[in-house]
Amino acid sequence: MFGKRFTLLKIFGFQVWIDFSWLILGLLITWTLADGLFPQNYRGLSTMSYWLMGVGGALGLLFSIVFHELWHSLIARKFGLPIKGITLFIFGGVAEMTDEPRSPKAEFFMAIAGPISSIILGLSLLGLRFLLVGSGWSRAVTGVVGYLAFLNLILAGFNLLPAFPLDGGRVLRSVLWGMKNNIRWATHIASQIGAGFGALLIVIGVFDLIFGNFIGGIWMFLIGMFLRSASQTSYQQLLIRRALEGESVRKFMVSDPVTVSPSISLKTLVEDYIFKHHYKMYPVVDRGELIGCITLDQVKQVPKENWPQHRVEEMARNCSDKNTIGPDEDVMKALSTMNRTNASRLMVVEGNVLVGVIALKDVMKLLSLKMDLEKI
Ligand SMILES: [Zn+2]
Repeated sequence: MFGKRFTLLKIFGFQVWIDFSWLILGLLITWTLADGLFPQNYRGLSTMSYWLMGVGGALGLLFSIVFHELWHSLIARKFGLPIKGITLFIFGGVAEMTDEPRSPKAEFFMAIAGPISSIILGLSLLGLRFLLVGSGWSRAVTGVVGYLAFLNLILAGFNLLPAFPLDGGRVLRSVLWGMKNNIRWATHIASQIGAGFGALLIVIGVFDLIFGNFIGGIWMFLIGMFLRSASQTSYQQLLIRRALEGESVRKFMVSDPVTVSPSISLKTLVEDYIFKHHYKMYPVVDRGELIGCITLDQVKQVPKENWPQHRVEEMARNCSDKNTIGPDEDVMKALSTMNRTNASRLMVVEGNVLVGVIALKDVMKLLSLKMDLEKI
C-alpha cells in the first residue's frame, strides 16, 4: 500500500512514518494556502506572511492527522490490539493494526476515538482563535489558527461518513456486528456501503471536472477510487483471515525444500538453482545444519562478472524472525511476516533444524481452493 517512507518521530511508543506521497501533498497544500486561500481571506498582508501562514497551515495539518491517528492507536492499545505504527500518506493518515479488533465494543471505541479527538481539537482551536483575536494578535496568526480549527472539524466530518473502512464505516460495522454477532455479514454490508460512497465521490468528481473545478474534481475522483479499493480489500482480507485462522504453517509448507551448500559460487547458484527452480530464496544448509538463507536480492548486489569468485556463505543472511517461522505457528502469522518483510518465502524451522519452506503462492492456491469449496 505504501511506497518509500521514513520515520518522522516516535510518540507514546508508536512509530510515526511519513510516506513520500505526503511530502508532495504537504508542498501542494502550502502552495494552495499561500497563493490562494489566505490571500483571498486575509487581504493586505505581505507575500512573506502568506508563505509563512502556508507553512504553518501545512505543519498544523500534519499535527492534526497525527493527533487523530494517535487517539485511534491509544484506544486500540487499551483494548489490547497491537498497532504497528502510524503512516501518513497522500490521503491522510492510517494507524496500522496488525490484527482486527476482537469485539464490536473494541472496534466501536477505537473507531470513534479519532473523530471525537478531532472535534475536541477543532473546538479548542476555535476557542483559542477567539482569545487571540480578542487580545489583538496579528491576522496572520489568527488566520492559521482559524484555518486549523475548521480543518479538524472537516477531518472529523469526512471520517464520520459511514463508508467502511473510514471511521464512520467502522462504527457502522461494529453496530451491525454487535446486532447479529456476525462479523462477516457486518463487514460485507459496511464495505458495500463504503464502495457505494466511493462511486458517489467518483461521480461528483467527474461532474466537478466537467464544470471546470479541476483540482477539486481530481481530488474527489482519487479519494473515491481509493475508498472503493480500500473497502473491497478490507472485505477480502477478512475472508482470508477467516479461512486461514487456526491453520498451522505445517499444513502449507513444502517439507523437502531445495537447499544450497554454503561453498558453491554465486554463478553455480544462479545457473543450477535460480534458473532451474525460479525461487527467490534458498535455505543454506551445511552438513544437515541450517546456517541461513540466500535471496535473489542479495545476488543482485554483486556484479555479474564477479559471481564466480564469490561463494554463497559470504552473502548468506542469518536466520531471524524475519525469514523463519515455526511449523506449529498460525499461517496468518507467516502471512503477516511476509507482508512486513516483503518476502514471498519463509524457512520453517524447529530448533536449529530446517523442516520446510512456506511460500506465499502455495498458501494462496490452497486458500482459493478452500474458499471455492466452502463458499465462505
Ligand atoms: Zn480516523
